[in-house]
Amino acid sequence: MIAIAQPVIDAEEINAVNEVLSSGMLAQGPRVAELEKDWAAYCGTKHALAVNSGTASLHAALFAAGVGEGDEVITTPFSFIATVNPIIMLGATPVLVDIDPETFNIDPEQIKQAITKKTKAIVPVHLYGQPADMREIQEIAQAHKLVVIEDACQAIGAEYDGKKAGNLGDLACFSLYATKNIMCGEGGIVTTNNDAYATAVRQFRQHGMSGPYQYEHLGYNFRLTDLQAAIAVEQLKKVDTFSKKRQAIAKTFNAALKSIPGLVTPNAQSGRSHVYHQYTMRATKDLPVNRDELVEKLRSKDVGAAVYYPLPLHLVEHIAHFGYKKGDFPHAEQAAAEVLSLPVHPKLSDKDVATVIAAVKDCISAT
Ligand SMILES: *Cc1c(COP(=O)(O)O)cnc(C)c1O
Repeated sequence: MIAIAQPVIDAEEINAVNEVLSSGMLAQGPRVAELEKDWAAYCGTKHALAVNSGTASLHAALFAAGVGEGDEVITTPFSFIATVNPIIMLGATPVLVDIDPETFNIDPEQIKQAITKKTKAIVPVHLYGQPADMREIQEIAQAHKLVVIEDACQAIGAEYDGKKAGNLGDLACFSLYATKNIMCGEGGIVTTNNDAYATAVRQFRQHGMSGPYQYEHLGYNFRLTDLQAAIAVEQLKKVDTFSKKRQAIAKTFNAALKSIPGLVTPNAQSGRSHVYHQYTMRATKDLPVNRDELVEKLRSKDVGAAVYYPLPLHLVEHIAHFGYKKGDFPHAEQAAAEVLSLPVHPKLSDKDVATVIAAVKDCISAT
């Protein structure tokens, strides 16, 4: 099976872990500090704070932004559930708005219409690795004094107007989960240029502590270990190489697949770079097979196609509970019914890429 995701683990990662093991200091320490310094330099932000998952990074960033009971946070229904759960965990209300069907990212016009006196923050997701419409979103946020928190979990290295994801809002969140563009098994990063936000995140990841046994507020243990940070430091050195490989594969897929009636290949917008965390197409009703059949057929040909995401978040029971129902976000619902992703990771050989293309063509024409 050509897997939908596969981490790149070379001698550098293995040696880095061995060094930490030999040092005998495994918890948050010098390698976490190194990762934070490198990550901030890479994104061009003043601060980067490591935590133990992307979900924890969103939770900590929302906390730092002051999100709590009675607040509303505007975000997209077309994302992984970890975009929304931390909003609810903090006692705030997730206010979902529909997406732009071309990019799958949150639609700024819809954001405008959802703002109330209770709105505190906007969480745009750079879905599949393509930055959201950050200029429009920043303008809206400034006009209404809202905090912008990028969910950049899929977008390390992506750029918008020459600036890196992570440096496009007030705070940004990254994931180092095993399937992400760079990874360390589990991990997360919060970036910001704001000292007060950085302090709040630093405290929140460590029981709300400002110093030894000085408790400023509630907190968690969201610390990353040096074992994981050592892997992530090596991965970050390779991120641009990985992105270039992903972009080259996407280009090959586009050229081979874009003229097939009923298949809609990804739309890369100008003025920003797409790092193809996923290569995601639509299988529309003009295709002789439906989306689910196509995914099944591809898998039977050992191509690990997958659907991100089959259920829009407003239809998840504990989120629907906030007053959502089927029909509320037609673009997100249609995307959930039509999208499928092909393997696009840097471990693919030229032969794998050709196999994927041939399999897609085969599955469509053999019906
Ligand atoms: C992966 C991901 C998360 C959560 O990250 P974890 O490290 O798995 O907790 C959040 N948002 C998006 C868009 C993601 O892709």
